Amino acid sequence: MVRSATTAEFRADLHAWLDVHEAELAPTYRGMGTLDEQIAQMQRVKAILYEADWMRYGWPERVGGLGGAAALRTELGASLAARDLMDPGHFSLVEVLAPTLIDFATPALAAEVVPSLLNGSEMWCQGFSEPETGSDLSSLRCRAVAEGDPSTATQWIINGQKVWTSLAHFSDRCVLLTRTGPPDSKHLGITAFFVDMDTPGITVRPIEMINGVREFAEVFFDDVVVSTDRILGSVNGGWAVAMSILPFERSSCFWQRIAYLYQRLQALTRLSEPTDRNAEIIGNAFLELHALRTRSRSTQHRLAAGATLGAETSIDKVLVAAGEHAVYNAARRLLHNTITLDDTVHGEQWRTEYLYSRSATIYGGTAEIQRNIIARRLLNLGDER
Ligand SMILES: Cc1cc2nc3c(=O)[nH]c(=O)nc-3n(C[C@H](O)[C@H](O)[C@H](O)COP(=O)(O)OP(=O)(O)OC[C@H]3O[C@@H](n4cnc5c(N)ncnc54)[C@H](O)[C@@H]3O)c2cc1C
Repeated sequence: MVRSATTAEFRADLHAWLDVHEAELAPTYRGMGTLDEQIAQMQRVKAILYEADWMRYGWPERVGGLGGAAALRTELGASLAARDLMDPGHFSLVEVLAPTLIDFATPALAAEVVPSLLNGSEMWCQGFSEPETGSDLSSLRCRAVAEGDPSTATQWIINGQKVWTSLAHFSDRCVLLTRTGPPDSKHLGITAFFVDMDTPGITVRPIEMINGVREFAEVFFDDVVVSTDRILGSVNGGWAVAMSILPFERSSCFWQRIAYLYQRLQALTRLSEPTDRNAEIIGNAFLELHALRTRSRSTQHRLAAGATLGAETSIDKVLVAAGEHAVYNAARRLLHNTITLDDTVHGEQWRTEYLYSRSATIYGGTAEIQRNIIARRLLNLGDER
C-alpha cells in the first residue's frame, strides 16, 4: 500500500479500501449484538486493520506505528463509526489510553505493549474513579506503598477500590491512579501505574447499567504487587498523566462519537414519516449535532496546530452531551413505541442506545462540573464557595 500523505488522501485511500473489505469487516450479528460480541468484533476488526496498516497510521514508529499526524487516527475511527463497523465508545479507549502510555511509560514498555493494543490482541482500561471520588478526582484514596525507600524500591503494594471502570472485565491492563502522598496531598500525591489485570489480588465485579449492559465494573486491589518500572511518569507525578488524557478524550474520541451520532440520525430520518412535525424534530437534532461538530472540528485543528487544550474543552463536553441527548430524545419522540415496547433486535438497539445516551452528562466529567469550569475559568464568574 502507498503511504497516504495528507488527511484527504488518507481518507480517500481508506474509503476505497473499506469499500472493498466492508463485507469482511462487517459484524456477523444482527443489530448491536451483545457486549461480548461487540468486543470480539472490535478486536477482530483491529487485527485486520493492523495487518493492512490502517491501524498503524498516526502512531509513532517506536511503538509499531507508521508515523504521520494523529488526525489520521481520528479519521480512521470516524470512518469505522460512520460505517457502523464497531462501537465508537469502545474503540476510542485506544485513543484515550495509548497516547498517554507512549508519553509516560518507559520506551521499552511502550514498544512492548502498544502494538498489542492496536492489533486487537489486548484491551486496556482506565482506573480513575472511586466510590467517593469522581468529580473531585484529586481526592482519590486507592493507595500504593513502596516496599522500602520510595526512591530505591523495586516494588509497590496497591490496596483500594476503583469503580465505573469501563470494560475492566475484558481488559488485560489498567492505567491506574493511586495515592502515594499523604491522604490530603490532593493532586500532588498521586502516582499512575500500568497494571496487568491478571496480577494476584485484583478482583473485577461487573456492574449492570440502566440499559442492562455490563459495560463497567468495580475493581478491588488487595495487596497487589506492581514493579517500579510500571510507574507512568514520576512518583507523585500522576496528575500530569491524568491531565494528558484530556486533549484526546475531548477531540478525537468526540469526533468518532459525532460520526456515529450522524449515522444514527440518518437512520432515524429514514425510519420516520415525512411530516412537518418529524422534520422539525430531526432538524433541531441536526442543528445540535452541527454545532457540536463545528466546535469539535476547531478543537482538533487547534490540537493539530500544537495548542495546549484546557478548560475551553469543557464547552466541547457540554455540546457532546447536548448532541447525544438531541439525537436520542428525537428518537424517543419519533420511535416511541419502538423504544418502549419493541423487543426485536431493532427495538432493542434504539432502547439500549437511548438509555446509554443518558450517561453523556456523567462520563468524562459531569455536565454540572463542566458548567462550573466554563463559569469560573472561562467567564470569570467567581470562585466556588
Ligand atoms: C458510561 C460511563 C463510563 C465511565 N467509565 C469510566 C472509566 O472507564 N474509568 C473511570 O475512572 N471512570 C469512569 N466513569 C466514571 C465517571 O468519570 C464519573 O461517574 C464522573 O466523573 C462523575 O463522578 P461520580 O460518579 O463520582 O459523581 P459525583 O462526583 O459524586 O457527582 C454526583 C453529582 O454531584 C454533582 N457535583 C459534584 N461535585 C459538584 C460541584 N462541585 N458542583 C456542582 N455539582 C457537583 C455532579 O455533577 C453529579 O451530578 C464512567 C462513567 C460513566 C457514566
